[in-house]
Amino acid sequence: MRPVDKGTRNDSINPYQLALEPLTKKLGRYCSYCEMQVYNSLEVEHVVSISKGGDKHQWHNFLLACKHCNGSSNKSDKVSSRTNYFWPDKDNTFLAFDYDELQHIRPHSGLSQVLQPIAKATIGLLGLDRFPGSINPPTLGDKRYIKRNEVWALAKESLSDWYQMPVQEMIRQIIRTATGHGFFSIWMTVFKDIPEIKLALIDAFPGTAKNCFDQNGNPAARPGGKI
Ligand SMILES: [Zn+2]
Repeated sequence: MRPVDKGTRNDSINPYQLALEPLTKKLGRYCSYCEMQVYNSLEVEHVVSISKGGDKHQWHNFLLACKHCNGSSNKSDKVSSRTNYFWPDKDNTFLAFDYDELQHIRPHSGLSQVLQPIAKATIGLLGLDRFPGSINPPTLGDKRYIKRNEVWALAKESLSDWYQMPVQEMIRQIIRTATGHGFFSIWMTVFKDIPEIKLALIDAFPGTAKNCFDQNGNPAARPGGKI
């Protein structure tokens, strides 16, 4: 999950839907959780649910979500505090999970025993591990897994192209493809051995938290975060 820096605002944003454009300007049109690029029905999402006492009109409680991460079978109305989950605007969520192309997103293998359950709870809250045939199959309308599959294939083809032609023009092409589809973490995983492409990805996806990565594009603990 891409760690993001959305900046701060202290004014009351009412109605809260007015935060959509400034948020997308900061973070791009990507779901903050599943990382999918979303043009229609990207929503201002309340991190702590309004029904559980979360601030309805304050920037600090906003992220962007697709309707499946924010939907009734997933996150909606379930979060009473930030404590028991990882959040992309507070933690280095890229360190929290492992991605692999068999559809799996899992707690990162190197997490401590204290952090493993937090990663697991976060995946469950957002339904990030839903795909047909899994123990958590997607709901009928939830097609996030299809797009995820497509992007795995695209990223692997792009890696193969890079090895054929490791030049600046290819980096630009790969970045155009990556930002046009989303799923930052898949691209970072596929290009894990190519620092120049990881750095270009960190730079190209708007609002990626730069303090979560070192000069080679490897993740580093986020100041003030749980991870
Ligand atoms: Zn989503």
